[in-house]
Amino acid sequence: MKVTEHIRQATGPIISLEILPPTKGKSIDSIYTVLDKFMDFKPSFINVTYHRAEQVFKKRGDGSFERVEIRKRPGTVGICAAIMNHYNVDAVPHLICGGFSKEETENALIDLHFLGIKNVLALRGDAAANEKFFTPHPNGHRYAEELVRQIGELNQGRYLEEDIMDGVKTDFCVGVAGYPEKHFESPNVEMDVYYLKRKLDLGADYVTSQMFFDNKHYYNFVNNCRAGGIEAPILPGLKPITNKRQLSVIPSIFNVDIPMELTKEMLAAKTDAACEQIGQEWLLYQCRDLLKNNVPVLHFYTLGKPHVVENVLKQLF
Ligand code: FAD
Repeated sequence: MKVTEHIRQATGPIISLEILPPTKGKSIDSIYTVLDKFMDFKPSFINVTYHRAEQVFKKRGDGSFERVEIRKRPGTVGICAAIMNHYNVDAVPHLICGGFSKEETENALIDLHFLGIKNVLALRGDAAANEKFFTPHPNGHRYAEELVRQIGELNQGRYLEEDIMDGVKTDFCVGVAGYPEKHFESPNVEMDVYYLKRKLDLGADYVTSQMFFDNKHYYNFVNNCRAGGIEAPILPGLKPITNKRQLSVIPSIFNVDIPMELTKEMLAAKTDAACEQIGQEWLLYQCRDLLKNNVPVLHFYTLGKPHVVENVLKQLF
């Protein structure tokens, strides 16, 4: 079922999860071990992130080095198929522009369609590790909106090669990313909302937000989006902070603020267990407030410490 149908049919708040593929070589069991614990809470859908290949230097036999591309976390499409098969829960693969030609993207979408996957989260992706700025594939997309447009074309049965234009129509529900604290490359909030609206006008169905730790950022973002003419559901992305290191790591990776109150409490904590407890209580407080404000979905980034999210869910439902 499509994410938008889950939202439409829900009689109360629903939950969804985001997981990362395991690092190369690990078994799918590592995914099941995490997800098994969440099944009592009946997640409506599970997102699986996509990770672009990284360029690394590999030593040759003669001692010289060669530059090779490695993908540390492959398997997004396969994991989505496995989740749907194993749990009968809808999976939402992330698709990124970075590193992919339009043809490769089309083939990935055809695979997803054959597998009965009805949802995708369409993203641009970040710059490669060796780049300062995002550089598109020579025959790929520069912005997520171009990927949204390509998926829309496929949903109309229009493929890249004109001679197969009579091909099967796909039927994807498309999510896109939104940033309560603004995307870091955007000059201001208004432009960010403007480009977000373009993604929706081009056929995206809903927005999943970047994580935030102060709900006021989410509420302001929703208000700005509504004022900018965006009517689609905006799913709040939630993640617990569970250790002191994350106080600097999370802002530097995700360009989000950590509230002073949470920072002070964390810094004052004497043990790792105390840090985890503080992060858990903060997430619970955020969730209760969001539920009071009638959010349609609580979307949890479960990477890292899934049991913290699980403990929060136990207290909520
Ligand atoms: P875009 O929508 O293309 O926006 C990128 C920037 O360009 C923004 O500043 C925007 O305002 C601007 N912009 C957009 N369109 C235009 C235009 N036409 N002209 C000029 N400027 C424009 N990354 C991964 O690699 N894998 C994942 O699985 C993944 N999952 C994510 C899930 C969520 C919910 C979120 C919020 C992010 C995720 N990311 C993931 C990170 C994401 O790829 C990065 O944040 C990336 O920098 C931007 O992606 P986007 O889809 O928002 O890009």
